[in-house]
Amino acid sequence: MRAAFMTDLDAIEVRDDVGEPELDPAGALLRVEACGICGTDARTFFNGDPKAPAPWLLGHEPVGVLEHVGTHADLPPGVSPGDRVFLGSILTCGECRWCLEGFQNLCEHHLLYGYDPYPGAYAELAAVPPIATIASGRGRSSSRSSSVATAARTAASASVEIASSSPNRSLIRTAPTSTLNCSST
Ligand SMILES: [Zn+2]
Ligand SMILES: [Zn+2]
Repeated sequence: MRAAFMTDLDAIEVRDDVGEPELDPAGALLRVEACGICGTDARTFFNGDPKAPAPWLLGHEPVGVLEHVGTHADLPPGVSPGDRVFLGSILTCGECRWCLEGFQNLCEHHLLYGYDPYPGAYAELAAVPPIATIASGRGRSSSRSSSVATAARTAASASVEIASSSPNRSLIRTAPTSTLNCSST
């Protein structure tokens, strides 16, 4: 597959012979249609980040089609394999007290998708971690959905239903405004 690696500060290299990501039985593979570029990407691109060791795949606001879904994956209600979805940037545990109370943006164990240990989505196929938040992009174009993912603080995006999955728990939430966006990190 084709993917765009950050190979150094201020350097991107598009490679055509990249192996496809492995399918986690509790995760999925996304056929990427669009992926936002935000300030966090720019900051990493120009300044580097220890959680983006070169060569590294950035891109944490993707929209695409769920092409493969693991046999143990727990998709949100209303989302099926083959659907267009967008991923939330913040990976939440789904188990801490904040997650359980619906404040996933305050998760005590949150990680940012697109940073070690989860490569990002400037690629034709991207691995969806089991703890990713997935929102349906049905009825939206991929570019529009990517805009929503990038600007998820808007009131419109706050009405999207998401689910945060972990191996033990599935939560259905109306997305807190910062849950889908990396701005809180
Ligand atoms: Zn949590
Ligand atoms: Zn971002």
